[in-house]
Amino acid sequence: MSIFLDQNPGLSAEAFSDCLRISISDGNLGDLPVAADPTLLQLTYAGARPAPPTAARLHDMCNSNFGAPTVIDGTIITALSGGVDPVSGIDITGNGITYIDSNVTPTVIRVVYDINNCNGGGIFVFDTDGNKISLARPPLLYHELSHAFRGATGTQQPNDEPPAETDENVMRSAMGYCLRDVNNHDGGCGHGDDCSGPPTPDSDGCFIVSATTGSPRSAEVAQLRGLRDRVAAASPLGARLIDRIYADYYGFSPAIAARLDQEATPRAAALRVVVRPLLAWFTLAGVLAFEHTDRVAVRQAQNALDDACPRLLGRAAIAGV
Ligand SMILES: [Zn+2]
Repeated sequence: MSIFLDQNPGLSAEAFSDCLRISISDGNLGDLPVAADPTLLQLTYAGARPAPPTAARLHDMCNSNFGAPTVIDGTIITALSGGVDPVSGIDITGNGITYIDSNVTPTVIRVVYDINNCNGGGIFVFDTDGNKISLARPPLLYHELSHAFRGATGTQQPNDEPPAETDENVMRSAMGYCLRDVNNHDGGCGHGDDCSGPPTPDSDGCFIVSATTGSPRSAEVAQLRGLRDRVAAASPLGARLIDRIYADYYGFSPAIAARLDQEATPRAAALRVVVRPLLAWFTLAGVLAFEHTDRVAVRQAQNALDDACPRLLGRAAIAGV
């Protein structure tokens, strides 16, 4: 079967980013234009079937011909910043839905989910002790893809939530989140415990960077992720601090990114005035933290910061040094 990313309303990069997390970022995920339908991108997953179960499931969904009783051959993922799914008319704010759409030919399975974490307020579900726990985007998407997998293979259960929530727990485990009660489908908008896993807004924190650079795989996004990973490896406290900054950022970032995705001039301005200078700052901070004895590396990072900052705001003016 195939998985497609819906390019409307311009948030397919966020769906791709969540698929990257599901693939455990093994580097084999890609996308291709679809000649017959320019509103879609086809998700591609190269290489041998990977070992992590979430990655293996995604690889299967991109590459396998399941044979009988496969009933439907395509799943379309639509990422929305909350609001109403235009196809079903269902408000998916703080939620995700999966359904079979037989109003189009060929019949497809649609996965529609909220990438804005319920307007930034968080989404909670329950653990087996009845505690509220957070529901982040990759487990939410993986939960919906679990429904889609059984929809495609004709193996839906009369109550399809326990198997979807069991799969959701596999993704939770891979990300370090606490586990959900698979027999409790309740939940809502609001904060829940993240059990020392990544913060609730676990997105890659790169919405604006992705939108302004035009790709979640741009050099700038890779640079930002790389720095965060280095900090996390060296200092759990530093990682928590960065995660906290991302959590605040997450509250407003997707909505801005959605607008930037559609407007070229503000996108170019945000890239030049905000994103590149900020990345240069992060890079210099990273070099000073990890490579401060390497005078060449420090000098290069300082020069890169000078180059990245808008002319009216030199490094000295910003840094006060
Ligand atoms: Zn479900």
